[in-house]
Amino acid sequence: MLSKKYFIKTFGCQMNISDSERIAGILEKNKFKPTSEITKADLVVFNTCGIRQMAEDRAYGQIHNLRKNNPKIKIVLTGCLANREDVRKKLKNKVDIFCEIKNIETIIETLGFSVCHYLDIVPKYSLAHSVLVPIMTGCNNFCSYCVVPYARGREISRPATKIITEIKNLIKNGCKEITLLGQNVNSYNYKKIVFPELLQKIEKIPGNFWIRFISSHPKDFSSELIETIAKSKKICEQIHLPIQSGSNKILATMNRKYTAEHYLDLIKKIRIAFKKYKTDIPCSITSDIIVGFPGETKKDFLKTATLMKKAQYDLVYFGQFSPRPGTVAYKMKDNVSKGEKSQRENTLNEILKKTALSNNQKYLGKTLEVLIDSKKNGLYFGRTRSGKNVKIISTRKNLIGQFAKVKIIKANIWNLEGKTIK
Ligand code: SF4
Repeated sequence: MLSKKYFIKTFGCQMNISDSERIAGILEKNKFKPTSEITKADLVVFNTCGIRQMAEDRAYGQIHNLRKNNPKIKIVLTGCLANREDVRKKLKNKVDIFCEIKNIETIIETLGFSVCHYLDIVPKYSLAHSVLVPIMTGCNNFCSYCVVPYARGREISRPATKIITEIKNLIKNGCKEITLLGQNVNSYNYKKIVFPELLQKIEKIPGNFWIRFISSHPKDFSSELIETIAKSKKICEQIHLPIQSGSNKILATMNRKYTAEHYLDLIKKIRIAFKKYKTDIPCSITSDIIVGFPGETKKDFLKTATLMKKAQYDLVYFGQFSPRPGTVAYKMKDNVSKGEKSQRENTLNEILKKTALSNNQKYLGKTLEVLIDSKKNGLYFGRTRSGKNVKIISTRKNLIGQFAKVKIIKANIWNLEGKTIK
């Protein structure tokens, strides 16, 4: 008889965090209780990430140790690694249930509980004031390096009415920030309701709250979407728009279906629209870049460096290419050495430091609304609408989960510093 304590170990992105909230929701509905100590759990779910080898190796190590020390514990493996044959073979004596993330409900079925569709599961939200709301899952794009279309299947959008109902309830319960999630969030399409229309519907929900969304694909970033964001009062001035490479040759090998010129044109349009409709704070633009993709020559790399200077990013998540089994790029020759990848990443990081600092300096002396997330050693920590982390001096009490007016007194490369004002 299975007793009732669970622990979920989550690797990777916000989509995985959101999935884990859904797994927790359904486990608790079925009388499981969370434990903060993995060794005290009867059921441990590893929600894995297959984007980088490092995350994969960490999961193997933890599963191995857990099984060695707790032979009776029930181990479930889900996430990106769950449908890989090589992973299943490697862990067949250590993992009890392999469950593809697109069939997350079957975890529950295997444990003997009733099931419902993934997007209908009521999650157990980790934070009350800032909540991740999946609006679609899966991906149709098949970028040559990516496991997502294989792990999650094709795109499925969630009915707009269900999304609106979930958000209305969250706002009623005091939530201040909604992040709409999807692998390709801006290709949302449910019975002809497309993403800009969905955003307009969410905007109309009464209450004082912010709207964010990740991740957008440049090929689906329409003029209508730019206009909707720029005109909105609730959608935050932060757009995450992964470029991956500044070389058109590499973008084609990656199967990204846009060019560097198209991408830069989008950024120009976004900045113009924001100037027209928004305040004097510019839109913060962030990105993902893969360094050392197969076939990336010095010349290709320099094109990425040039694009970064033009884009004036606030933040970039760099990843050195590592071949992921099952993808098209896995069969390509990984011909940029580890040392060269690190060197290229460092060069790009230096460009980022300059643009990030110069963007942050534009906030000096301004008073902004900040959503407070936490307090440590007498200082509050929060984020601006544009996603900047702010360290805040304040004598005010109980600010966590609230909006506060903060005057920015210092700009650093990776964050801002400020103090609350009345
Ligand atoms: S758009 Fe490309 S990188 Fe993003 S999830 Fe789909 S296949 Fe992966």
